[in-house]
This record gives sequence, structure tokens and C-alpha cells, in this order.
Amino acid sequence: MKLQDATWQDVEGFRRDCVVLIPTGSLEQHGPHLPLFTDSLIVTAVAEAVEARLTESVILIPTLWLGASGHHLRFPGSLSSDFDSYMGEIQSCVESLLPHGFHKFYILNGHGGNREPNGIAARRLKEAHLQATIGQSAYFDFVKTVISDTLEGPLKEMRHACEAETSLMLYLHPDLVRTGKLRDDGLASDPAVAGMVHHFDEITEQGSYGYATLATAEKGERIFDAAVKQVTQEIDRVANGYFLRGL
Ligand SMILES: [Zn+2]
Repeated sequence: MKLQDATWQDVEGFRRDCVVLIPTGSLEQHGPHLPLFTDSLIVTAVAEAVEARLTESVILIPTLWLGASGHHLRFPGSLSSDFDSYMGEIQSCVESLLPHGFHKFYILNGHGGNREPNGIAARRLKEAHLQATIGQSAYFDFVKTVISDTLEGPLKEMRHACEAETSLMLYLHPDLVRTGKLRDDGLASDPAVAGMVHHFDEITEQGSYGYATLATAEKGERIFDAAVKQVTQEIDRVANGYFLRGL
């Protein structure tokens, strides 16, 4: 069920062991060829496809689109939330539903910059609500092998407005891809020192990171279908009694 389409009485009648799915995206620069809303569009498409397959066991919250994007703010149009406000939004969604008996929550992420705050928000929520089931991951982390098998370029993982992300947009929203502006970027011959915190204006020329020129809609379809299948399978497990009882 999509929460935005429900009445409060619909929600009251819904089973309490369903999974509340909270997609998190961004509105931030995606190079010269992809729109600012790219992360939010893709994660919403994945989440809606999952909800359509698990209507009876998922409550889908509208995508939290204002992400943690401070590392993109040098490019105009990017919007960012500070970390505490961002995590507060997630916590507020969860704590609005907990008193009504819903106790399983999964934060499905579509933006790399949200990864750490999503993890902290989930851990805080678990510490504050010991009986709740809380999880979080990015959709692309469910399909790392498919992504690496699909990509032709030497970068074999999701980066930014890259071969993978541009392929997903060519599949989902081809009208929004500026195909005349596709370019490879962020490919410095000197690899970054592990663990360094970089803003995108430091590591790219025009904001993208990866081999966008190799993107195709077919690759996007393959990654999208795999992500929907895998996320659906795992959310279904959470909905149907997945529980770790220790050794
Ligand atoms: Zn992105």
C-alpha cells in the first residue's frame, strides 16, 4: 500500500507486521547529462515496483527527497539537508507509526551521501526502540554482482551519474537524459587516498564520476530488474517473520 493514497482507516486496518518502506533520495547535481532529481527518481521507481509486488505486506512512504548532499553544493541547484535534520526526518517517520503498532521499518537508499546518516538513524532508532525491526541499505548494494557483470567500463560499481546510473535513467526516464552531453569524468589517473573526504568539485570536472558514455537502456533494465527482484525478496523475508534469535 502507498501511504499517500490511503485513508487513516485504511492504515488502521493494515496488518501490523508489514514493512514500512522509507525510500531516501536526493536533489543534487548529476553532471551535465542527468537531472538533479536522478537519485530520487530511481529509488522511487525501485520502491514502487517492490510495493506493487508486496502490496499486502509493505507500506510505502513517499520518498524523502531532501538528502545529505553537502558534497555537491558547489554545483548550483543542489539542495542539501544538514545531517541532524536529515536523520530527524527519518526518525520522525518511524516514530509517527510506532505508536500505532507498526514495528518493521526498512530505509531504502538511492544516494551515496545518505549512506552514513541512514546507518546512524537506523542504529539510533534501534537503541531507542528495542522491539522494533529496523534495516537500511541502498538498492544498488543488493545487486553489486549484477552491476559489476553488466558494466563494460573499468569502474565496476555504482558511482555518480556513471555508466550504471545513466543506464538506469536511460531505461526509466530517457526523456530526461541529455544524451548529447554524455561524458566520462572523475577519472583522475591518481587514485584517491582511502578514506579521504572529497567534494565533487574536487574530484570531477563537471560533476559526474564514471563512464557515462558507455550507458545503455538495456544495461539499465538489467540492473533495475535485478534490484527490484532482490529488494522484493529481502523485504518479503522481513515481512514474513525474519528474526535473528542468536546462536
Ligand atoms: Zn545519483
